[in-house]
Amino acid sequence: MKLVEVFKHKTVFSIEVFPPKTEKGSLKLHQALSELKGIEPDFISVTLGAGGSTNRGGTVGVASEIQNHFDVPAVAHVPGLYRTKADVDELLDELEGQGITNILALRGDQIEGLKPVGDFKYASDLVAYINQRGGFEIAGACYPETHQEAANSVNDIRNLKVKVDAGVDHLITQAFFDNQCFYEFREKTDLAGINVPIEAGIMPCLNKKQVLNMAKMAGIPVSQKHLAMMEHYDGNVEATRDAGIAYAIDQIVDLVAQGVDGIHLYTMNNGDTAQRIWKATRSLFAASVR
Ligand code: FAD
Repeated sequence: MKLVEVFKHKTVFSIEVFPPKTEKGSLKLHQALSELKGIEPDFISVTLGAGGSTNRGGTVGVASEIQNHFDVPAVAHVPGLYRTKADVDELLDELEGQGITNILALRGDQIEGLKPVGDFKYASDLVAYINQRGGFEIAGACYPETHQEAANSVNDIRNLKVKVDAGVDHLITQAFFDNQCFYEFREKTDLAGINVPIEAGIMPCLNKKQVLNMAKMAGIPVSQKHLAMMEHYDGNVEATRDAGIAYAIDQIVDLVAQGVDGIHLYTMNNGDTAQRIWKATRSLFAASVR
């Protein structure tokens, strides 16, 4: 079933993983994937580094394994900023060869000192290109707290509308820690006539450092409640992990009750965290089947 159809029938639950760079990382990912078997997510997305061919083999290989071995639809991330049209064609051919027809089309993170190729300045250019080629369902990224480089939220939403109109089938948000900002974002996208499903990105942060890093890297405001909680348990590994997982579950319970189209869990290849969150919320997703 196409993902766009899945969204019509239920609240989607998906997971994001990244390709491992080391032997240890590979073992962790495989453990996570085998633990995910009990979860049966609607899809698993696999990241790809923005720069050149870095990790490309890993992304296609991991996506292929997820789809062909674990029997879960895989979504391959494709950042365009540092890729030529020929690079993208080659990558799409490779994905198609593995039966992977779901793409998350991205501009990609900017890399200091690396000059963009120029074929795909914005994600919308890549979306239009892949859409014209055909054969892929295309997801796109969006930012409830506004993208870091955007002048303001109005411009960002206008640009998002251009991207969706270029051929995006569904959106996945950057992680956020305050559901209220997601609800306000959804109101703005509704007003802008953006009608595709929007999955909420949830990142369980397992310690205070992770919360602060995430906030700094992605420009996401940390809620006082979240920070106070992490500070209270700081230094106690088990307690901060439990508190971080509970915070993510709390966000999901509220989002699903408010009719969110889907939850996209940034697992950081941590199968145990994904399992715990799934066990605590699975009945909510089961109850959402239409
Ligand atoms: P765009 O949609 O192109 O937006 C980028 C900026 O340009 C925004 O400020 C937007 O307002 C502006 N803009 C867009 N169109 C126009 C226009 N026509 N004129 C003027 N301004 C415009 N990065 C990776 O490198 N690899 C990954 O695997 C990866 N996975 C991700 C997964 C998710 C779910 C998310 C949310 C992000 C991911 N990223 C990844 C990060 C992403 O590449 C960065 O956030 C990047 O800075 C923006 O990518 P985008 O596709 O949203 O860009």
